[in-house]
Amino acid sequence: MANLDLTKKERKELWRYLINQLEDYYSNTKSIRVSPPLDIDRIAGLVRQPDFSKVLPPKEAVDAVITAMKANIVHTPHPQYYGLFNPRPNIAGIVADFITAVFNPQMAAWSHSPLAAEVENYLIHEMGIRFGYPANSIDGTFCTGGAEANQTAVLCALNKAFPEYANKGLRNIDHSPVLYCSSQAHHSVIRAARIAGLGLNAVRSIPTRPDLTMDLGLLDSQLETDELSGFTPFMVIGTAGTTGPGTIDDLQGIAKIASKRNLWFHADAAYGGAAVLSHKLKHLVNGIELADSITFDVHKWLSVPMAASMFITRKPEILHQTFRITTDYMPKDAKGLKITDPYTHSIQWSRRFIGLKLYLSLLMFGWKGYEEVIDHQTEVGEELRNLLEKSGWVMLNKSPLPVLCFSDDFYKNDSDFATSICDAVVKSGKAWISVYPINGVNALRACITNYATTKQDVAQLVELLNEKRKEYKNR
Ligand SMILES: *Cc1c(COP(=O)(O)O)cnc(C)c1O
Repeated sequence: MANLDLTKKERKELWRYLINQLEDYYSNTKSIRVSPPLDIDRIAGLVRQPDFSKVLPPKEAVDAVITAMKANIVHTPHPQYYGLFNPRPNIAGIVADFITAVFNPQMAAWSHSPLAAEVENYLIHEMGIRFGYPANSIDGTFCTGGAEANQTAVLCALNKAFPEYANKGLRNIDHSPVLYCSSQAHHSVIRAARIAGLGLNAVRSIPTRPDLTMDLGLLDSQLETDELSGFTPFMVIGTAGTTGPGTIDDLQGIAKIASKRNLWFHADAAYGGAAVLSHKLKHLVNGIELADSITFDVHKWLSVPMAASMFITRKPEILHQTFRITTDYMPKDAKGLKITDPYTHSIQWSRRFIGLKLYLSLLMFGWKGYEEVIDHQTEVGEELRNLLEKSGWVMLNKSPLPVLCFSDDFYKNDSDFATSICDAVVKSGKAWISVYPINGVNALRACITNYATTKQDVAQLVELLNEKRKEYKNR
Protein backbone atom coordinates (compact mmCIF):
# COMPACT_ATOMS: atom_id res chain seq x y z
CA MET A 1 0.00 0.00 0.00
CA ALA A 2 1.22 3.49 -0.77
CA ASN A 3 2.51 5.32 2.28
CA LEU A 4 0.60 8.59 2.04
CA ASP A 5 2.45 9.85 5.14
CA LEU A 6 5.91 9.14 3.66
CA THR A 7 8.50 7.98 6.21
CA LYS A 8 9.42 10.33 9.03
CA LYS A 9 12.83 10.94 7.44
CA GLU A 10 11.40 11.68 4.00
CA ARG A 11 8.81 13.94 5.52
CA LYS A 12 11.30 15.97 7.53
CA GLU A 13 13.40 16.48 4.42
CA LEU A 14 10.33 17.50 2.47
CA TRP A 15 9.23 20.06 5.10
CA ARG A 16 12.71 21.61 5.10
CA TYR A 17 12.90 21.68 1.32
CA LEU A 18 9.42 23.16 1.03
CA ILE A 19 10.05 25.92 3.58
CA ASN A 20 13.28 26.89 1.80
CA GLN A 21 11.55 27.05 -1.58
CA LEU A 22 8.65 29.09 -0.22
CA GLU A 23 10.94 31.46 1.67
CA ASP A 24 12.86 32.02 -1.56
CA TYR A 25 9.63 32.98 -3.35
CA TYR A 26 8.29 35.09 -0.47
CA SER A 27 11.45 37.13 -0.01
CA ASN A 28 12.24 37.50 -3.72
CA THR A 29 8.74 38.04 -5.10
CA LYS A 30 9.92 41.36 -6.45
CA SER A 31 12.50 39.75 -8.74
CA ILE A 32 10.00 37.85 -10.90
CA ARG A 33 7.53 39.01 -13.55
CA VAL A 34 4.24 40.16 -12.00
CA SER A 35 2.16 38.31 -14.59
CA PRO A 36 2.78 35.51 -17.10
CA PRO A 37 2.33 35.50 -20.85
CA LEU A 38 -1.14 33.98 -21.37
CA ASP A 39 -0.25 31.12 -23.67
CA ILE A 40 -2.93 28.53 -23.01
CA ASP A 41 -1.39 25.74 -25.13
CA ARG A 42 1.93 25.99 -23.33
CA ILE A 43 0.31 26.14 -19.87
CA ALA A 44 -2.22 23.35 -20.46
CA GLY A 45 0.58 21.26 -22.01
CA LEU A 46 2.79 21.78 -18.97
CA VAL A 47 -0.02 20.66 -16.65
CA ARG A 48 -0.78 17.54 -18.71
CA GLN A 49 2.85 16.48 -19.16
CA PRO A 50 3.24 14.28 -16.04
CA ASP A 51 2.17 10.65 -16.26
CA PHE A 52 0.29 9.74 -13.05
CA SER A 53 1.20 6.09 -13.53
CA LYS A 54 4.88 7.01 -12.93
CA VAL A 55 5.12 8.84 -9.62
CA LEU A 56 7.81 11.40 -8.79
CA PRO A 57 10.05 11.55 -5.70
CA PRO A 58 8.39 14.01 -3.27
CA LYS A 59 10.95 16.81 -3.64
CA GLU A 60 10.79 16.62 -7.42
CA ALA A 61 6.99 16.78 -7.32
CA VAL A 62 7.01 19.82 -5.06
CA ASP A 63 9.69 21.47 -7.16
CA ALA A 64 7.70 20.91 -10.36
CA VAL A 65 4.63 22.55 -8.82
CA ILE A 66 6.49 25.56 -7.40
CA THR A 67 8.45 26.18 -10.59
CA ALA A 68 5.27 26.01 -12.67
CA MET A 69 3.42 28.35 -10.27
CA LYS A 70 6.22 30.90 -10.37
CA ALA A 71 6.06 31.14 -14.14
CA ASN A 72 2.32 30.89 -14.74
CA ILE A 73 0.21 32.94 -12.36
CA VAL A 74 -0.30 36.61 -11.63
CA HIS A 75 1.75 37.27 -8.49
CA THR A 76 -0.58 39.14 -6.18
CA PRO A 77 2.13 39.11 -3.45
CA HIS A 78 4.30 41.28 -5.75
CA PRO A 79 4.69 44.93 -4.67
CA GLN A 80 3.96 46.01 -8.26
CA TYR A 81 0.58 44.26 -8.26
CA TYR A 82 -1.99 47.08 -8.19
CA GLY A 83 -5.04 44.93 -8.72
CA LEU A 84 -8.45 44.11 -7.45
CA PHE A 85 -7.98 44.11 -3.66
CA ASN A 86 -5.97 40.86 -3.68
CA PRO A 87 -3.29 41.20 -1.04
CA ARG A 88 0.17 39.92 -0.47
CA PRO A 89 -0.72 37.31 2.17
CA ASN A 90 0.86 38.14 5.53
CA ILE A 91 3.08 35.52 7.14
CA ALA A 92 0.76 34.84 10.08
CA GLY A 93 -2.10 34.11 7.69
CA ILE A 94 0.05 31.73 5.66
CA VAL A 95 1.25 29.87 8.75
CA ALA A 96 -2.33 29.66 10.05
CA ASP A 97 -3.51 28.11 6.79
CA PHE A 98 -0.71 25.57 7.01
CA ILE A 99 -1.60 24.69 10.61
CA THR A 100 -5.25 24.39 9.61
CA ALA A 101 -4.37 21.99 6.80
CA VAL A 102 -2.42 19.74 9.16
CA PHE A 103 -5.06 19.62 11.94
CA ASN A 104 -7.97 19.77 9.52
CA PRO A 105 -10.57 20.78 12.11
CA GLN A 106 -14.12 20.08 10.96
CA MET A 107 -16.19 23.20 11.58
CA ALA A 108 -19.64 21.79 10.82
CA ALA A 109 -20.45 20.70 14.38
CA TRP A 110 -19.32 22.77 17.37
CA SER A 111 -18.41 19.65 19.36
CA HIS A 112 -15.90 18.48 16.72
CA SER A 113 -13.83 21.66 16.92
CA PRO A 114 -14.85 23.62 19.99
CA LEU A 115 -11.65 25.64 20.03
CA ALA A 116 -11.96 26.60 16.37
CA ALA A 117 -15.65 27.45 16.74
CA GLU A 118 -14.96 29.66 19.76
CA VAL A 119 -12.10 31.44 17.97
CA GLU A 120 -14.49 32.28 15.15
CA ASN A 121 -17.31 33.31 17.53
CA TYR A 122 -14.89 35.63 19.32
CA LEU A 123 -13.64 37.21 16.09
CA ILE A 124 -17.16 37.76 14.74
CA HIS A 125 -17.99 39.46 18.04
CA GLU A 126 -14.84 41.61 18.03
CA MET A 127 -15.35 42.72 14.43
CA GLY A 128 -19.03 43.39 15.14
CA ILE A 129 -18.02 45.67 18.03
CA ARG A 130 -15.59 47.50 15.75
CA PHE A 131 -18.35 48.04 13.22
CA GLY A 132 -20.35 49.64 16.05
CA TYR A 133 -22.87 46.87 16.74
CA PRO A 134 -24.31 46.54 20.27
CA ALA A 135 -22.32 43.86 22.13
CA ASN A 136 -25.37 41.79 23.03
CA SER A 137 -26.77 41.36 19.53
CA ILE A 138 -23.94 40.24 17.26
CA ASP A 139 -23.99 37.07 15.22
CA GLY A 140 -22.31 35.95 12.05
CA THR A 141 -20.35 33.35 10.21
CA PHE A 142 -17.06 33.04 8.38
CA CYS A 143 -17.44 32.61 4.63
CA THR A 144 -15.21 31.76 1.69
CA GLY A 145 -15.51 35.25 0.25
CA GLY A 146 -17.65 38.30 -0.27
CA ALA A 147 -19.76 36.44 -2.80
CA GLU A 148 -20.84 33.88 -0.20
CA ALA A 149 -21.34 36.59 2.44
CA ASN A 150 -23.53 38.60 0.06
CA GLN A 151 -25.47 35.45 -0.83
CA THR A 152 -26.01 34.86 2.88
CA ALA A 153 -27.27 38.44 3.22
CA VAL A 154 -29.81 38.09 0.42
CA LEU A 155 -31.12 34.83 1.91
CA CYS A 156 -31.39 36.37 5.40
CA ALA A 157 -33.19 39.43 4.05
CA LEU A 158 -35.65 37.20 2.19
CA ASN A 159 -36.31 35.14 5.30
CA LYS A 160 -36.84 38.28 7.36
CA ALA A 161 -39.30 39.82 4.92
CA PHE A 162 -41.10 36.59 4.01
CA PRO A 163 -41.06 34.10 6.91
CA GLU A 164 -42.87 31.58 4.70
CA TYR A 165 -39.97 31.61 2.16
CA ALA A 166 -37.99 28.96 4.09
CA ASN A 167 -40.71 26.32 3.84
CA LYS A 168 -42.88 27.25 0.90
CA GLY A 169 -40.27 28.64 -1.44
CA LEU A 170 -40.44 31.76 -3.54
CA ARG A 171 -43.14 30.59 -5.90
CA ASN A 172 -45.67 30.34 -3.13
CA ILE A 173 -45.01 33.82 -1.81
CA ASP A 174 -47.71 36.21 -2.81
CA HIS A 175 -45.21 38.98 -3.65
CA SER A 176 -42.70 40.07 -6.30
CA PRO A 177 -39.67 40.82 -4.12
CA VAL A 178 -37.11 43.36 -5.41
CA LEU A 179 -33.77 44.51 -4.00
CA TYR A 180 -31.72 47.66 -4.55
CA CYS A 181 -28.04 48.44 -5.00
CA SER A 182 -26.04 51.02 -6.94
CA SER A 183 -24.83 50.56 -10.48
CA GLN A 184 -21.30 50.35 -8.99
CA ALA A 185 -22.21 47.44 -6.66
CA HIS A 186 -20.32 44.17 -6.97
CA HIS A 187 -21.97 41.72 -9.34
CA SER A 188 -21.96 38.97 -6.71
CA VAL A 189 -25.00 40.81 -5.36
CA ILE A 190 -26.81 40.47 -8.64
CA ARG A 191 -25.84 36.83 -8.93
CA ALA A 192 -26.98 36.25 -5.34
CA ALA A 193 -30.46 37.33 -6.42
CA ARG A 194 -30.30 34.83 -9.26
CA ILE A 195 -29.14 31.99 -7.03
CA ALA A 196 -31.83 32.81 -4.45
CA GLY A 197 -34.44 32.25 -7.16
CA LEU A 198 -35.38 35.92 -7.51
CA GLY A 199 -33.89 36.33 -10.96
CA LEU A 200 -31.75 39.13 -12.29
CA ASN A 201 -34.79 41.31 -13.00
CA ALA A 202 -35.44 41.57 -9.27
CA VAL A 203 -32.31 43.69 -8.88
CA ARG A 204 -32.81 47.45 -9.21
CA SER A 205 -29.50 48.96 -10.18
CA ILE A 206 -29.70 52.58 -8.98
CA PRO A 207 -27.62 55.08 -10.95
CA THR A 208 -24.84 56.95 -9.16
CA ARG A 209 -24.23 60.64 -8.63
CA PRO A 210 -21.20 62.23 -10.34
CA ASP A 211 -19.08 61.13 -7.34
CA LEU A 212 -20.03 57.49 -8.17
CA THR A 213 -22.02 56.88 -4.97
CA MET A 214 -25.61 55.73 -5.06
CA ASP A 215 -28.06 58.52 -5.88
CA LEU A 216 -30.40 58.35 -2.90
CA GLY A 217 -32.99 60.58 -4.54
CA LEU A 218 -33.26 58.05 -7.36
CA LEU A 219 -33.32 55.21 -4.84
CA ASP A 220 -36.29 56.81 -3.10
CA SER A 221 -38.21 57.43 -6.31
CA GLN A 222 -37.53 53.91 -7.61
CA LEU A 223 -38.84 52.48 -4.33
CA GLU A 224 -41.94 54.64 -4.72
CA THR A 225 -42.50 53.52 -8.30
CA ASP A 226 -42.00 49.85 -7.47
CA GLU A 227 -44.39 49.92 -4.55
CA LEU A 228 -47.04 51.58 -6.68
CA SER A 229 -46.49 48.98 -9.42
CA GLY A 230 -47.08 46.06 -7.08
CA PHE A 231 -43.52 45.00 -6.31
CA THR A 232 -42.36 44.32 -2.75
CA PRO A 233 -39.01 45.94 -1.96
CA PHE A 234 -37.25 43.96 0.77
CA MET A 235 -33.56 44.91 0.78
CA VAL A 236 -31.12 47.75 0.06
CA ILE A 237 -27.40 47.12 -0.34
CA GLY A 238 -24.92 49.92 0.20
CA THR A 239 -21.30 49.45 -0.82
CA ALA A 240 -18.35 50.63 1.26
CA GLY A 241 -15.47 50.56 -1.20
CA THR A 242 -16.79 49.78 -4.67
CA THR A 243 -14.69 47.33 -6.64
CA GLY A 244 -14.08 49.69 -9.55
CA PRO A 245 -13.62 53.23 -8.23
CA GLY A 246 -13.39 52.49 -4.47
CA THR A 247 -16.21 54.86 -3.57
CA ILE A 248 -18.35 54.65 -0.42
CA ASP A 249 -22.13 55.01 -0.52
CA ASP A 250 -23.87 57.32 1.96
CA LEU A 251 -24.55 54.58 4.49
CA GLN A 252 -26.41 56.84 6.94
CA GLY A 253 -28.69 58.05 4.18
CA ILE A 254 -29.39 54.50 3.02
CA ALA A 255 -30.07 53.41 6.60
CA LYS A 256 -32.67 56.14 6.95
CA ILE A 257 -34.48 55.14 3.75
CA ALA A 258 -34.34 51.44 4.64
CA SER A 259 -35.67 51.95 8.14
CA LYS A 260 -38.52 54.17 6.93
CA ARG A 261 -39.71 51.38 4.64
CA ASN A 262 -38.73 48.48 6.88
CA LEU A 263 -36.20 47.07 4.41
CA TRP A 264 -33.15 44.95 5.25
CA PHE A 265 -30.06 47.16 4.95
CA HIS A 266 -26.94 45.25 3.99
CA ALA A 267 -23.52 46.94 3.82
CA ASP A 268 -21.15 45.31 1.36
CA ALA A 269 -17.90 46.41 2.97
CA ALA A 270 -15.80 43.59 1.50
CA TYR A 271 -12.91 45.97 0.93
CA GLY A 272 -13.71 49.28 2.64
CA GLY A 273 -14.84 47.76 5.95
CA ALA A 274 -11.19 47.76 7.00
CA ALA A 275 -11.54 51.53 7.44
CA VAL A 276 -13.08 50.92 10.89
CA LEU A 277 -9.70 49.71 12.09
CA SER A 278 -8.05 53.08 11.38
CA HIS A 279 -8.71 56.16 13.50
CA LYS A 280 -8.05 58.28 10.43
CA LEU A 281 -10.46 56.45 8.11
CA LYS A 282 -13.17 55.25 10.46
CA HIS A 283 -15.49 58.21 9.80
CA LEU A 284 -15.70 57.22 6.11
CA VAL A 285 -18.02 54.34 6.95
CA ASN A 286 -20.24 56.15 9.43
CA GLY A 287 -23.66 54.55 9.36
CA ILE A 288 -22.33 51.01 8.90
CA GLU A 289 -23.42 50.35 12.51
CA LEU A 290 -27.01 50.81 11.31
CA ALA A 291 -26.76 48.02 8.74
CA ASP A 292 -28.69 44.84 9.52
CA SER A 293 -25.75 42.89 8.13
CA ILE A 294 -22.24 43.45 6.83
CA THR A 295 -19.96 41.65 4.36
CA PHE A 296 -16.30 42.01 5.27
CA ASP A 297 -13.52 40.22 3.39
CA VAL A 298 -10.57 39.25 5.55
CA HIS A 299 -8.70 38.17 2.41
CA LYS A 300 -8.63 41.72 1.08
CA TRP A 301 -7.29 44.52 3.26
CA LEU A 302 -6.52 42.24 6.22
CA SER A 303 -4.10 40.34 3.97
CA VAL A 304 -4.80 36.72 4.82
CA PRO A 305 -4.65 34.08 2.09
CA MET A 306 -7.92 33.26 0.33
CA ALA A 307 -10.58 32.22 1.11
CA ALA A 308 -11.72 34.30 4.09
CA SER A 309 -14.68 36.59 4.59
CA MET A 310 -17.14 37.42 7.35
CA PHE A 311 -20.89 37.85 7.34
CA ILE A 312 -21.87 39.78 10.47
CA THR A 313 -25.39 40.66 11.55
CA ARG A 314 -27.06 42.55 14.37
CA LYS A 315 -30.13 40.34 14.05
CA PRO A 316 -29.02 37.31 16.10
CA GLU A 317 -32.02 35.14 15.19
CA ILE A 318 -31.78 35.44 11.43
CA LEU A 319 -29.03 32.95 10.52
CA HIS A 320 -30.81 30.32 12.57
CA GLN A 321 -34.07 31.08 10.83
CA THR A 322 -32.37 30.90 7.43
CA PHE A 323 -30.08 27.88 7.70
CA ARG A 324 -31.10 25.67 10.61
CA ILE A 325 -31.99 22.12 9.78
CA THR A 326 -31.92 19.04 12.00
CA THR A 327 -30.28 15.77 11.06
CA ASP A 328 -29.87 12.40 12.68
CA TYR A 329 -26.28 11.85 11.64
CA MET A 330 -24.67 15.04 12.94
CA PRO A 331 -22.81 14.72 16.28
CA LYS A 332 -24.89 15.32 19.39
CA ASP A 333 -22.00 15.45 21.90
CA ALA A 334 -22.77 19.06 22.79
CA LYS A 335 -26.38 18.34 23.74
CA GLY A 336 -27.43 20.51 26.66
CA LEU A 337 -24.64 23.06 26.09
CA LYS A 338 -25.52 26.58 25.01
CA ILE A 339 -23.74 26.43 21.68
CA THR A 340 -24.47 26.86 17.99
CA ASP A 341 -23.41 24.27 15.45
CA PRO A 342 -21.78 26.34 12.68
CA TYR A 343 -23.49 24.32 9.92
CA THR A 344 -26.84 25.64 11.15
CA HIS A 345 -25.69 29.21 10.49
CA SER A 346 -23.95 28.87 7.14
CA ILE A 347 -24.32 28.00 3.47
CA GLN A 348 -21.39 25.64 3.97
CA TRP A 349 -21.50 22.36 5.84
CA SER A 350 -18.05 20.75 6.17
CA ARG A 351 -15.97 23.84 6.56
CA ARG A 352 -12.34 24.82 6.87
CA PHE A 353 -11.18 26.73 9.97
CA ILE A 354 -11.16 30.09 8.21
CA GLY A 355 -10.91 32.23 11.34
CA LEU A 356 -7.45 31.03 12.38
CA LYS A 357 -5.85 33.19 9.69
CA LEU A 358 -7.24 36.32 11.32
CA TYR A 359 -6.68 35.08 14.87
CA LEU A 360 -2.98 34.33 14.32
CA SER A 361 -2.51 37.63 12.45
CA LEU A 362 -3.99 39.44 15.46
CA LEU A 363 -1.85 37.44 17.88
CA MET A 364 1.27 38.43 15.94
CA PHE A 365 0.45 41.98 14.81
CA GLY A 366 -2.61 43.11 16.77
CA TRP A 367 -5.34 45.55 15.73
CA LYS A 368 -2.67 48.24 15.92
CA GLY A 369 -0.50 46.43 13.38
CA TYR A 370 -3.44 46.39 10.97
CA GLU A 371 -4.13 50.07 11.61
CA GLU A 372 -0.52 50.95 10.75
CA VAL A 373 -0.64 48.96 7.55
CA ILE A 374 -3.99 50.42 6.48
CA ASP A 375 -2.71 53.96 7.10
CA HIS A 376 0.53 53.18 5.25
CA GLN A 377 -1.34 51.90 2.18
CA THR A 378 -3.56 54.97 2.22
CA GLU A 379 -0.46 57.21 2.30
CA VAL A 380 1.19 55.32 -0.54
CA GLY A 381 -2.05 55.80 -2.50
CA GLU A 382 -1.84 59.57 -1.88
CA GLU A 383 1.79 59.53 -3.02
CA LEU A 384 0.78 57.73 -6.22
CA ARG A 385 -1.97 60.30 -6.84
CA ASN A 386 0.49 63.18 -6.36
CA LEU A 387 3.12 61.64 -8.63
CA LEU A 388 0.56 60.92 -11.34
CA GLU A 389 -0.82 64.45 -11.23
CA LYS A 390 2.70 65.89 -11.38
CA SER A 391 3.25 63.86 -14.57
CA GLY A 392 0.10 65.22 -16.18
CA TRP A 393 -2.30 62.34 -15.50
CA VAL A 394 -5.83 63.26 -14.41
CA MET A 395 -7.93 61.49 -11.80
CA LEU A 396 -11.36 60.27 -12.89
CA ASN A 397 -12.52 59.00 -9.48
CA LYS A 398 -12.42 60.49 -6.04
CA SER A 399 -11.99 57.80 -3.41
CA PRO A 400 -10.65 58.38 0.10
CA LEU A 401 -9.24 54.84 -0.12
CA PRO A 402 -6.09 54.02 -2.11
CA VAL A 403 -7.94 53.23 -5.35
CA LEU A 404 -6.99 55.43 -8.32
CA CYS A 405 -8.74 55.64 -11.68
CA PHE A 406 -6.94 57.95 -14.07
CA SER A 407 -6.26 58.89 -17.64
CA ASP A 408 -4.48 61.51 -19.68
CA ASP A 409 -6.42 64.69 -20.35
CA PHE A 410 -5.47 64.73 -24.00
CA TYR A 411 -6.25 61.06 -24.68
CA LYS A 412 -9.15 60.43 -22.37
CA ASN A 413 -11.69 60.41 -25.18
CA ASP A 414 -9.52 58.08 -27.24
CA SER A 415 -11.12 54.75 -26.33
CA ASP A 416 -7.93 52.81 -27.16
CA PHE A 417 -5.65 54.83 -24.94
CA ALA A 418 -6.27 53.22 -21.53
CA THR A 419 -6.46 49.66 -22.87
CA SER A 420 -3.24 50.11 -24.89
CA ILE A 421 -1.33 51.54 -21.94
CA CYS A 422 -2.69 48.81 -19.63
CA ASP A 423 -1.72 46.07 -22.11
CA ALA A 424 1.76 47.47 -22.50
CA VAL A 425 2.27 47.73 -18.72
CA VAL A 426 0.97 44.23 -18.02
CA LYS A 427 2.91 42.65 -20.92
CA SER A 428 6.12 44.25 -19.65
CA GLY A 429 5.81 42.00 -16.58
CA LYS A 430 6.87 44.96 -14.45
CA ALA A 431 3.47 45.84 -12.94
CA TRP A 432 -0.18 44.77 -12.99
CA ILE A 433 -2.92 47.37 -13.40
CA SER A 434 -6.36 47.22 -15.01
CA VAL A 435 -8.90 49.26 -16.96
CA TYR A 436 -12.22 50.40 -15.56
CA PRO A 437 -14.78 52.65 -17.27
CA ILE A 438 -15.72 55.79 -15.34
CA ASN A 439 -18.80 57.59 -16.72
CA GLY A 440 -18.19 56.04 -20.10
CA VAL A 441 -14.46 56.85 -20.22
CA ASN A 442 -11.92 54.04 -19.96
CA ALA A 443 -9.63 54.77 -17.03
CA LEU A 444 -6.48 53.05 -15.85
CA ARG A 445 -7.01 51.61 -12.39
CA ALA A 446 -4.37 51.06 -9.71
CA CYS A 447 -5.05 50.07 -6.11
CA ILE A 448 -2.51 49.89 -3.30
CA THR A 449 -3.59 46.42 -2.33
CA ASN A 450 -0.21 45.20 -1.09
CA TYR A 451 1.05 46.37 2.31
CA ALA A 452 4.63 45.91 1.08
CA THR A 453 4.25 48.41 -1.76
CA THR A 454 6.42 51.44 -1.01
CA LYS A 455 6.63 55.03 -2.24
CA GLN A 456 9.64 53.96 -4.35
CA ASP A 457 7.50 51.24 -5.94
CA VAL A 458 4.78 53.68 -6.97
CA ALA A 459 7.43 56.06 -8.33
CA GLN A 460 8.58 53.17 -10.56
CA LEU A 461 5.00 52.59 -11.68
CA VAL A 462 4.62 56.24 -12.69
CA GLU A 463 7.88 56.07 -14.66
CA LEU A 464 6.61 52.98 -16.44
CA LEU A 465 3.28 54.65 -17.22
CA ASN A 466 5.02 57.78 -18.51
CA GLU A 467 7.23 55.64 -20.74
CA LYS A 468 4.23 53.76 -22.18
CA ARG A 469 2.33 57.01 -22.73
CA LYS A 470 5.30 58.39 -24.66
CA GLU A 471 5.41 55.25 -26.81
CA TYR A 472 1.69 55.65 -27.47
CA LYS A 473 2.21 59.26 -28.57
CA ASN A 474 5.03 58.25 -30.90
CA ARG A 475 3.34 55.19 -32.31
C1 LIG B 1 -14.37 41.56 -3.78
C2 LIG B 1 -15.74 42.03 -3.55
C3 LIG B 1 -16.82 41.14 -3.48
C4 LIG B 1 -16.65 39.68 -3.78
O1 LIG B 1 -15.90 39.09 -2.79
P1 LIG B 1 -15.09 37.73 -3.04
O2 LIG B 1 -14.28 37.66 -1.80
O3 LIG B 1 -14.29 37.94 -4.29
O4 LIG B 1 -16.07 36.64 -3.16
C5 LIG B 1 -18.05 41.64 -3.17
N1 LIG B 1 -18.24 42.95 -2.97
C6 LIG B 1 -17.23 43.85 -3.05
C7 LIG B 1 -17.51 45.30 -2.83
C8 LIG B 1 -15.94 43.42 -3.35
O5 LIG B 1 -14.94 44.29 -3.44
